[in-house]
Amino acid sequence: MSSSSEKNQPPKTSSQYAILEKNVLDFWQQAQIFEKSVDRLAPKGDYVFYDGPPFATGTPHYGHLVASIMKDVVPRYYTMQGYKVERRWGWDCHGLPIENIVEKELGTKQKKDIEALGVGKFNELCRSKVMTYADEWEKVINRLGRWVDIKNSYRTMDLDFMESVWWVFKELWDKDLIYQAYRSMHICPRCETTLSQSEVSEGYRDIKDFSVIAKFELVAEPGTYVLAWTTTPWTLIGNVALAVGSEIEYLKVKSDNQIYIIAKERLADVFKDKEQAILASLRGSDLVGKSYQPLFDYYASDKTLENRENGWKIYAADFVTTEEGTGVVHIAPAFGEDDMRLGKEQNLPFIQHVGLDGHFSEVVTDFPNMHVKPLDDHMATDINIIKYLAAHNTLFHKEKYEHSYPHCWRCDTPLINYATSSWFVRVTKIKEQLLANAQKINWFPEHIKEGRFGNWLEGARDWSISRQRFWASAIPIWECACGERQVIGSVSELEELSGQKITDIHKDVVDDITFACQKCQGKMQRIPDVLDCWFESGSMPYAQLHYPFENKDKLENNFPAQFIAEGLDQTRAWFYYLHVIAGGIKNSQAFDNVIVNGIVLAEDGKKMSKRLQNYPDPSLIMEKYSADALRLQLLASPVMAAENLNFSEKGTEESLRKNIILLLNVFNFYELYAQENKDLDLSGDKLRAFVQTSEHVLDKWIMTQFNLLLETIQAGMESYNLPRATRPITTFIDGFSTWYLRRSRDRFKSEDIKDRQLALLTTKVILLEFSKVIAPFMPFMAEHLWQKLSTNNFNNDNASVHLEAWPSVFEIEPKDVLERMIFTSQIVEAGLMKRNEAGIKIRQRLNKITVRFKVTNLEPAYQNLITDELNVNEMELLPPLGDEVFAVELDTKITPELKQEGIKRDLIRFINLLRKEAGLSLGDKTKTFIVGHEDVQIVVKKFQDELIKETLSESVEIVAAVEDDVAQKTVTIDEQKVTIALVRV
Ligand SMILES: [Zn+2]
Ligand SMILES: [Zn+2]
Repeated sequence: MSSSSEKNQPPKTSSQYAILEKNVLDFWQQAQIFEKSVDRLAPKGDYVFYDGPPFATGTPHYGHLVASIMKDVVPRYYTMQGYKVERRWGWDCHGLPIENIVEKELGTKQKKDIEALGVGKFNELCRSKVMTYADEWEKVINRLGRWVDIKNSYRTMDLDFMESVWWVFKELWDKDLIYQAYRSMHICPRCETTLSQSEVSEGYRDIKDFSVIAKFELVAEPGTYVLAWTTTPWTLIGNVALAVGSEIEYLKVKSDNQIYIIAKERLADVFKDKEQAILASLRGSDLVGKSYQPLFDYYASDKTLENRENGWKIYAADFVTTEEGTGVVHIAPAFGEDDMRLGKEQNLPFIQHVGLDGHFSEVVTDFPNMHVKPLDDHMATDINIIKYLAAHNTLFHKEKYEHSYPHCWRCDTPLINYATSSWFVRVTKIKEQLLANAQKINWFPEHIKEGRFGNWLEGARDWSISRQRFWASAIPIWECACGERQVIGSVSELEELSGQKITDIHKDVVDDITFACQKCQGKMQRIPDVLDCWFESGSMPYAQLHYPFENKDKLENNFPAQFIAEGLDQTRAWFYYLHVIAGGIKNSQAFDNVIVNGIVLAEDGKKMSKRLQNYPDPSLIMEKYSADALRLQLLASPVMAAENLNFSEKGTEESLRKNIILLLNVFNFYELYAQENKDLDLSGDKLRAFVQTSEHVLDKWIMTQFNLLLETIQAGMESYNLPRATRPITTFIDGFSTWYLRRSRDRFKSEDIKDRQLALLTTKVILLEFSKVIAPFMPFMAEHLWQKLSTNNFNNDNASVHLEAWPSVFEIEPKDVLERMIFTSQIVEAGLMKRNEAGIKIRQRLNKITVRFKVTNLEPAYQNLITDELNVNEMELLPPLGDEVFAVELDTKITPELKQEGIKRDLIRFINLLRKEAGLSLGDKTKTFIVGHEDVQIVVKKFQDELIKETLSESVEIVAAVEDDVAQKTVTIDEQKVTIALVRV
C-alpha cells in the first residue's frame, strides 16, 4: 500500500475497532475512493454543498466534529442517490482571531504598537500563523471519516478569493447598497475598531459597574437640582443636555435642605432611605428649556464650541421612561444612539472627549490620559469620576449595579458605545426581499426559520462592514481630496489605473497604490479601512470559485446551494451574511436546506473547558471506541437538532456495544457458517431473487423490517432530520441480532438444505444491503462488511460500498408479518416474565403455555417461534375469558421427562462451551466422555443420538473418571457436579 498507511497508523492504545477503521482509511486513500465517488458519472447531476470556513486558531473540538459529521453524512447519502457532490474545504484566514494571536506573541498593548512595527511586517506574521493548526485539523477530520477535499481548500487570504470579494463589494456598491455614515456604534477600545451587530450580540456578559445619580443645578433656581441616572459615569463629561418626557409627572421635593426634581413614579425608589417633603408637582413640558450648570467645564467654557448656545438645557424626548433611574436621561450625543439622534434634532453641541483607543482627550485635565475601561480594573475611572462629583457637590447617590454588557468577542474588553464613521451595507433597504427569499429556505429544526433566524432578519439593521484593522481584505474604495470616489472591482482594473503589476491586495500593499483623479487630476488614495471578515465568509459561494473571473457557468448553474450546516451561533453570523449578500447581488437565498446543530457540553452540563479538563480528547475517544461509534452517538442525539448535548464517554461505549459489536457478532456468526456451506452461496441478482422467494416468517419479517428501515431513513434524510434517520439503525441491529439471528440459529445447522440456505443467504443479503444503508452514517463499518461480503476484500480499487447505489426495497408480500411478529414477541415477553416469577431457568423445558387473546389463529410458524423461545412443548391459543384482553398462563410443573430434557440441554450447552474453549472449529470431531450422577447417566443413554449430533461428537459415553491430560471441565447440572471431557479424533 501507499505511504499513507504510515500516516493512519493508530497509536499503540488503539482498540481492534480503531484498527479495523485504520485499514478502511488506508484503502480509501490508496484506492482514491472519495475522488472516484465525486468524479464518476452522476445520473442526477450536481448536489451543491457549501462548507463554512473555520478559523484555524486552535485544534478542532467536539463542535467542529458535530459539524463535520453532518457535512459528511448528507453528501455521502446524496452521492449514493446518484448525485455528484463536490466537497471543498475552506479556511477563514483573516480578522481579529489571528491578529490577536500575533499580538499576544509580539506583546503589543495597543494599535499604535502595530503601526510602529509596520503593517507589512504585522500582516506577514499573521500570514505565517494562519495555517499553524491546519495539519492537526486534517488529521482529526480524516480520522473521523469525513470526506472533504482539504488539499484544494480555498483560503480567504488568497488573491483569487480576495479579488472576488472586491467584485461582490462593487456589485453592492453599484446597486447603491453601500454607504458611509457617522453613527453611534459599539467599538472595542483595545482593538480600536468598530464591530457589527452580530459581533456585539455575541459578547454580552453580566458585569458589575457603578451607577450614579448626578445633581444638575438649575441656573435660574440655585439650590434646586434635577436628578439624572447613568450606568456609565465616564460619559458625564460628554453631557450636553437632559431629557424629560413632556407628559411625565415630576415632583419638586425637599430633602436635607436641598430641592430636587425627579419623576413622581421614581420617588419611592430613589428616596427610599431619605426623608423628604413634596413641594410641587409639574409636567415634563414645564421643565423644557431650563438651563443647568454643566458638571464639568472643559467644553462648556470653550466659546468656539459649535451649537454651544443650545447646550446644557432640558429637552423633551419620547424615549424617556420611568422604568428605572430618575425619569430624566443624561444626554451625551457621542456615546449613544438616542443621544445622537436628539443631538442632531436639537443641534446640540457634540463632545467627543474619548478617543477610539478609549483614552480621555487632553482637554480633560482632571483625569489625564485615563482609559474609560481600564483592562485591569474596569471600574477605576468611573470611581475617579464619582470622587470628583462628590467633591463638587454634584453626586446624589452611587451604587454597584449588575447589568448585561457587551464585550469584545475576541479580546474580552468591555465595548463602548461611540459615535464614529463607518461603512455600511444597506440591509434595511432590501429587507423585504430578504424576508421573501428566506421563505424558500428549509430549516432543520424547523423552528429556527421563523424563530431565531426570522426574528433576527426581521430586526436587521444596516451592517457595519468597515474595521479599522490590518489583516483582512482591504475595502476597495479610493478617494480624492476633491470628494471623488472610485470602487475597484478587480485586480486588472487597479493595474490599469495605477500602471503597476499587482500580486497581493492586502492593506499594506494597496495602501501605497495611487492613481490620478478623473475629476481634478489629484491623487486617489485608498480609504484606510478593511472589511469585516464575515463579509468574506458571506462571499464564499462566489469567491471559492473566483467568480466571475473564472467558473462563470459553474456558479450560475449551481446556485443556490442545496445544503449547508453549522452551529446555532451561525444563525446570526454565517447563515445571515450568506443570505444578505446573496439577496443583495442576486436577489436569491444562498442555500435551500440547512441543518443547525446545538452545543456539545461536558458531561456535567458545563461548558467544555481545556483548563478544567472536564471532557475526554475526541481523538482518544475515536481510538478507544471507533469513529463510527462516536458518529452514531452524535448523529442520534439532539445536538443534531440545535439542542445541547451533555457528552458522556459512556454514551460512546454504549454506541459501540449496541451498534458495532452487535453487528460484528452477526457478521462473524454468518461467516462461520458461510465457510461451512460454500456450495450454497449465491450473489448478485440471483441472491436477491432467491431470498425473496422465502416463505419462512423470520426471513419475511427481517426483509419487511429492512424495507421499513429504508423508508424511515429516506424520510429522515429528505427532511434533513438526522436523528430521525439514524435512530432506527440501532433498533434494526438489535432486531436482526436478538430476534432474527437467535431464532434462526438452528436453521443454520438444519438437515433441510433449502432452509439452511435460506437462513444463510437471507442473513447475507440483509448484511450486504444494510452495509449500504449505514454507509453515510457508519462509513467504516459499512465498508468493512461490504468488502468482506462482496468478496472484494479490499482487493479491487474500483469497488467500495461508497460507490454503490442506494439499495431498493425487497419485493416481498409482507401480508401481516409485522403484526404477527409483534404479537409473537409480546407472548414471549409475557412467558419469560412468568418463568422469572416461578424461578425456573430457561433451559428447563416446560410443558405448555396457554395464551388467551382475541386472535386465535396464529400460524404454526409463529407458534413454533414461541415454543422454541420459551422452551415449552406446546402452545394453546384460546379466546379471552370475560373482559380480559390478553393473558398468558404457564404450566410450571416439572415432570421427570421435562427434567431430563433440561439436563440434556445443559449437557449440550456445556459440551459446546468446552469445544469452544478448546479452540475446536465446526470441522473438528471429538469423542466426548461424561462423569456424572444417575440422572445424567439416564439422559446420556436416552438421548445419545441427539447429543452426538448437537455437539459434533463421534460418540458420547459415560465413564467413571477422565485422565488429567485431556480437555475437560466440571460443571453443575441439576445441583450436582458433572465432569465433561473431550478427545479430538
Ligand atoms: Zn477587542
Ligand atoms: Zn479629485
